[in-house]
Formats: sequence, structure tokens, C-alpha cells
Amino acid sequence: MKNLFEIKNLNMHFPIVDGFLGNIKGYVYALNGVNLTIQENEILGLVGESGSGKSTLGNCILRLLTPTSGEIIFKNENLLNKSKKELKEFRKSAQLIFQNPFMSLDPKMKVYDILKEPFIIHGYKDKNEINKKIRQIISLTGMDEEVLERYPHEFSGGQRQRIAIARAIILSPEFIVADEPVSALDVSIQAQIINLLLKLKENLNLTMLFISHDLSIIKYISDRIAVMYLGEIVEIATKDEFFKNHKHPYSEALLNAVPTISDEGKKKIILQGELPSVQNPPKGCKFHTRCPYVMDKCKSESPQFYEVNPNHKVKCFLCE
Ligand code: SF4
Repeated sequence: MKNLFEIKNLNMHFPIVDGFLGNIKGYVYALNGVNLTIQENEILGLVGESGSGKSTLGNCILRLLTPTSGEIIFKNENLLNKSKKELKEFRKSAQLIFQNPFMSLDPKMKVYDILKEPFIIHGYKDKNEINKKIRQIISLTGMDEEVLERYPHEFSGGQRQRIAIARAIILSPEFIVADEPVSALDVSIQAQIINLLLKLKENLNLTMLFISHDLSIIKYISDRIAVMYLGEIVEIATKDEFFKNHKHPYSEALLNAVPTISDEGKKKIILQGELPSVQNPPKGCKFHTRCPYVMDKCKSESPQFYEVNPNHKVKCFLCE
């Protein structure tokens, strides 16, 4: 399959600035040498604990943040070399669905105006075309046209997320970052929104980076899965391969946190302790402070990616 994105050695280190003088007193090491491909028309699930850098990665790929260094290759061009005008053009083809539909919609705007706004930002003028597209997208996202004259506060969380999704796809993007798009919703509504995203992916040929801390949702929606720990990708595999043959101890711990009926009597790795500080990450393998298999060299050397098979890579000395 063809790559839509190729992310090479991406670093995002946020400076921590000290008071009035503006001296830099340290860095938040949010992304550290991230290498990743996102293939055309796939859903890549990105999973990890809160604070592991998932959202920062999504925002860097969309160029809503400017990374410290690295490359983000989109259709053979590095997005880090693009001008403001070129980035505005890129943003038509790449959109974000936020976690919280309560925060992401302007409460003072009617739904029609919320959906019209991206056309105005990008200089579209044909009112009939805009009107037609808005009505098409409302139907595609499972809503009635009567919602267009109402305000966001009149809707439930699930309906608001449908409106936010409609806004994200209104300019026919190729790529969507969905950042925990169902975690603020009732469990009963989550499946409806996930199924809507799957339908849109098929109907519109979308490619998606789906960010979640919930492996059961990731399992349902993803084609491939990338696991993130403390700003690094530590394992990446196709979905079936990941669930049958995961290798990284962190992946094992995440999977063990998901209860299953066949669990009884099994020995489990349970994730101990907190995620280490992103201002002062551990040397060597960043997972060594919590890893039950830690070896001496894990404390001083950082493992490279080892290929288990062409669909599966792991950053752990156990796969050397
Ligand atoms: Fe554990 Fe060492 Fe593998 Fe890191 S490299 S996950 S510490 S065994």
C-alpha cells in the first residue's frame, strides 16, 4: 500500500520558560525520534497512556504545531518546508476531530454557519455549491436538515460530535486526525460515532489517525496499531498481528489492563507506577523503570526497532 505520510525522526521539545526573564530552564520532551508511516486509506490506531505524546504527534502531523526537528513527508513533500500559504492549502486536505464536542463548536453560531465557516476561510464563493455541500454532508453524517438552524447547546454530546465530524469533512479532506473522539461520550453513543467514522472512511476514501487510550476501541476501528510510550513509538503492527503476537512489554501491560472472559489463572504484567516525567525521561529504554523484563543494558542503551516480520516492528532488546 502507498504511504500518505512518512514521519521521520520527529522531535517536539517544548521549552519551559522561567518567569519575567524568559530564560529556558528545561524542556518537555513530548516527541522523541518518532518514525512512522500512515498508508493511504487505512485507519492507524495510536494508543498509549495519557501524557504519552499522542495528541502532540497528531497536532504536529497536521502542522498545528511546529516540531523541533524531523520530517513530515506528505505526498513526497516535507510539510516542515511549506510556506504559510502552502500550509493553508494543505489544511483543506487534513482535518482534526477533537475529543470534546462541547468545547469544539462555537456556541454563538448556528450549525449552518459552523459548516459554512471552512468555505469562507478558504475563499469559496459559490453560495449554491456551499449550500448543496452542507446539505449533502448533513445527510451523510446521519442528521436531518432541521439541525442547520439550531445552536450547538440544543444537542446531546453524540449529536454535537456528529456536527464536529461534519465540519471536519466538509471540504472533502483526504486525512483526518480523530483525537479521542468518543472518550467524552456515553458508552451507549460511542459505538454509533465509531460506526459513523468507519462508514465515512469507506464512502470518502479517508485515511485516519485514530488516537485513543482505549485498546478495545482501537481494536474495533483500526487496520494497523502503533503503541506510544513517553514520546516514542515502541511497537507497530497490523491489527491481527498485534493482537496475536504483540511483543513489547508495554503493549502487553496495556492489553492486560483490558479485562477478558478468558483471563482467569493467567500470569499478567501489570503496569506499575506512574508515567515518568517528560521533563526528565529515563535514559536508555524509556520503559525500563516499569518493565518487569529489564536487563542491565536497558538502563543505558536505547533499543532500535527490530523487525519481527514485514508487518511488525518492536523497539525492545527482547526482539534483538
Ligand atoms: Fe523492557 Fe528492556 Fe525491552 Fe525496554 S528494552 S521494554 S526495559 S526488556
